[in-house]
Amino acid sequence: MSQHVLFVGAGQTNLSVLKNWKKRAPNHVEWTLVSPSRYHYYSEMFSGYIEGKYSLEDIRIDIKAFCQQHGGRFIEEKITAIDKNRNIVLTESGKSIQYDLLSADIGSRHAGGSVQGVREHALFVKPHNEFPTTADKLQRTEYPVIVGGGFSGVELALSLQVWRQKHDMKTPVTLVSATSILPNEKQDVREQVRNLLDERKILIYENTPVDSLDAQIIHAGNEMISYGEVLWAEGNEPPLLFDYANLPVDEKGYLLVSSTLQSLGDPAIFGSGDCVTIEEYPVWRKDDVIRQGEILEENIIRALKNKQRLKRFQPKKKHGAVLNLGLKQGLYLNGDKHSISRRAWKWKTQMDKNFMKQFNKS
Ligand SMILES: Cc1cc2nc3c(=O)[nH]c(=O)nc-3n(C[C@H](O)[C@H](O)[C@H](O)COP(=O)(O)OP(=O)(O)OC[C@H]3O[C@@H](n4cnc5c(N)ncnc54)[C@H](O)[C@@H]3O)c2cc1C
Repeated sequence: MSQHVLFVGAGQTNLSVLKNWKKRAPNHVEWTLVSPSRYHYYSEMFSGYIEGKYSLEDIRIDIKAFCQQHGGRFIEEKITAIDKNRNIVLTESGKSIQYDLLSADIGSRHAGGSVQGVREHALFVKPHNEFPTTADKLQRTEYPVIVGGGFSGVELALSLQVWRQKHDMKTPVTLVSATSILPNEKQDVREQVRNLLDERKILIYENTPVDSLDAQIIHAGNEMISYGEVLWAEGNEPPLLFDYANLPVDEKGYLLVSSTLQSLGDPAIFGSGDCVTIEEYPVWRKDDVIRQGEILEENIIRALKNKQRLKRFQPKKKHGAVLNLGLKQGLYLNGDKHSISRRAWKWKTQMDKNFMKQFNKS
């Protein structure tokens, strides 16, 4: 009898498994990918999109076409429940789908829910398929504000400012951060990036946690910051799916998996990417996702072949990142080393384009 693998979410790890599926999977196995949008938007390229460097087609993957090309079925739906005792999931429209193995890569949700007025008035980076509309609103408004001084907030503020200056928008982008900007980086990195934000005439409020939003004003301690549109780019929250499914989750609600990427509550459920916490490595960094994709692929294939020994994920010892700073400048971070250069920007651009090429072949 044929087996059925259900891929929930078109995140990076699920897609990387599926692109090799035909070559690797046993013949009797069918697969389905379920995701709420036909397109998966690659958030690493959002800053380039808001800067005007990329088109819509550059930053999104046509999941339906991808599934057809790789021999699987696509269902445009959101999964709302997992019944692990019956190996069934339920979709938002009430369909039930049976599975033998399930691989969840559904990312996280945006944070901000506990700050008064954020849900009602702010824009968010997620769901990713709404980002083009969000970008348009931020480009056109007179007073755009970005809340969040981490990688994505800084990248988006710098790139948005470039777009606005190019289009003669006179009012600057404002960046508000509860901490210093890039709080996890060394002081000299923070200073260089802060200088760049100043040079580009971005208004910065550091160490300014937002208390509440009303329809036009951000209230943060003694500060009252006017906005036309505000993007909330601070923090993430876990998806609700796993807690509801009675699967073991960490104290925040992320699916707990072992280093084989299997749920601690059910070995038939795999999890990877932003939606999980790995029991042995509670703190892994985003640049470990490629490695997770390799482990996930190998372990799903082994599980389908009833092999007992699965491979174990180990995070990299040294972590790196490259940020787009706009105007063909990039920030390269690797262990103790860092630099701002055109070379870093070129490298990031090439990496992002190469990533997309794997999935958007005609
Ligand atoms: C502006 C910006 C820049 C970034 N730059 C970088 C960078 O340079 N490098 C880096 O490593 N990281 C970067 N990140 C972070 C990175 O993009 C995320 O870590 C990454 O998107 C997480 O990937 P994922 O596969 O876990 O989930 P996602 O990419 O969020 O994918 C989740 C998928 O699951 C689907 N889904 C969600 N819920 C359900 C459901 N209930 N049922 C079915 N499907 C569902 C979604 O539609 C989506 O297709 C950036 C983020 C932002 C916002």
